[in-house]
Amino acid sequence: MENVWSQERAGCDIGGISIDRVVDIERLRYPHKTLIPSSDRELLCELSKEMGPRLIHPESLDLSLSFHSFLIRTEKNNILVDACCGNGKQRLGRLDWHERDGPFLDNLKALGVMPEDIDYVMCTHLHPDHVGWNTTMENGRWVPTFPNAQYLFAETEYKFWVDQQSEVEDPILHGSHADSVLPVVASGQATLVKADHQIEAGLNFEPAPGHTPGAVILNAESNDAAAVLCGDVVHHPVQVRRPDWSSAFCEDPVGSARSRAKLLERISGTGTLLLPAHFMSPYFGPIEKFGTGYKTVI
Ligand SMILES: [Zn+2]
Repeated sequence: MENVWSQERAGCDIGGISIDRVVDIERLRYPHKTLIPSSDRELLCELSKEMGPRLIHPESLDLSLSFHSFLIRTEKNNILVDACCGNGKQRLGRLDWHERDGPFLDNLKALGVMPEDIDYVMCTHLHPDHVGWNTTMENGRWVPTFPNAQYLFAETEYKFWVDQQSEVEDPILHGSHADSVLPVVASGQATLVKADHQIEAGLNFEPAPGHTPGAVILNAESNDAAAVLCGDVVHHPVQVRRPDWSSAFCEDPVGSARSRAKLLERISGTGTLLLPAHFMSPYFGPIEKFGTGYKTVI
């Protein structure tokens, strides 16, 4: 099966590239105004009937998100895109992510991949729910979870957060910069790359600023098939319908909406699979125009 997301497998083949979802947290619910301040009840009520209660609670209209990575396997490399929340991290400002003990590495092993098999880790941006598994605790220290991986951080993104930390004493990003990014840099396994970096032929970064200033997406292409691993350019399928709805967690909501609109317009009607970091099943698929926005074809 090519260029079609399989719900059963939780993955797909894009030409000669395989992509599988690796779950860290299956589902968290957020009040819709907490996640998307500009969302309105009327459209959410309508979408809840279409998308079902797992994605949009029919009464509260709470929106549910998943927290997962994607494992890309090519002939040459095993690449992990985004690193979720991690285990054992102190996140007192985000209790859902605090001192977790989840089966993420077991989920990776179930795909036949051990931590030492990962060649590259790519973080679309450096928020705490995208860097957590970068490191694990070993003998009282945070060390890279993937001992043979090169970790690819977009230079603009990394430098933005380093500057932010230099201006304040308290740890930024609920502590994730200190425990999940800086130890990787200290280990020598981090590489700062440009926003249009190519990992290998067919796997290309593209800048998508807004959610964070240096956010990037990854375009995967092989044998005329394509997918875009777009991180948090889109958080929830309701934003496919309303690309102007930015999340409360976007550093620049206007820029985020611009990047979202640009991405959705580009891939609409092309068959390219949209693979965001927080969508829940079954909304991994190509998109097409629908009204003033778009719709996932599932
Ligand atoms: Zn996120």
